[in-house]
Amino acid sequence: MNYHVLTLFPDMIEQGMNNSIIGRAMADGKISLEAVNIRDYTTNKHGKTDDYPYGGGAGMVMQAQPVYDAFQAVLERTEAKPRVIYVTPQGSVFNQQMARELALEKDIVIICGHYEGIDERVLDEIVTDNISIGDYVLTGGELPAMVMIDAISRMIPGVLHNDESAEDDSFGDGLLEFPQYSRPEVWNGIPVPKILLSGDHAKVDAWRREQSLIRTALRRPDLLETAQISPKEKAFIAKFLENQKEQ
Ligand code: SAM
Repeated sequence: MNYHVLTLFPDMIEQGMNNSIIGRAMADGKISLEAVNIRDYTTNKHGKTDDYPYGGGAGMVMQAQPVYDAFQAVLERTEAKPRVIYVTPQGSVFNQQMARELALEKDIVIICGHYEGIDERVLDEIVTDNISIGDYVLTGGELPAMVMIDAISRMIPGVLHNDESAEDDSFGDGLLEFPQYSRPEVWNGIPVPKILLSGDHAKVDAWRREQSLIRTALRRPDLLETAQISPKEKAFIAKFLENQKEQ
């Protein structure tokens, strides 16, 4: 997977991504990431990349020309028609399923807006996907780009090592993950659940599944509508919630 991020703040992307698991994935050649400085492509002799919005109003708008030319330069290094994502609060809200699908691409171009955003004409011309990371407005698209690169990369084979497997993670099976515990066995007077010390893998798995169901029912009941759960598990959740009400 090759990520090409078009941004006015390339340092932010490079410094933000060159650490931990994603930094290791780059060093191992599992992914590559280039942060392309849009400013390098402006034809304005003062290096300007933005201007006032037509029609008036607050703020500045990133101009079409530098974004388009930066994109054309990137196209010379990608497959014929790469996915071109504009990160915008006006897009579809990013989720694990989208991360899984995008992980199958060979090249992904991500365009980061700033200020009031980018001239609509260039977006209409080049963008294939408008994606938001949530219903709030940030100062720029760099954090959303990094969030997406992190989530997508975890889905690429070999990026996570075996002991960091994404299998049990929240949303993997449509549910939230079960609670996790580590040493010591008793912390602050609180013991870890006994079953986890039993060495009985089948029982541990069953307990974890129940915890996932309970946690999802309490924290994200909306997920239960699409998660794959058996009629027996549905009955278990209903009984658990009924008991909760009585307490
Ligand atoms: N005026 C725009 C609007 O109301 O839709 C918001 C512009 S925002 C201040 C500047 C840039 O940050 C956007 O162009 C976009 O690239 C990025 N951005 C802000 N919030 C975002 C979000 N929730 N998801 C993805 N990108 C976001």
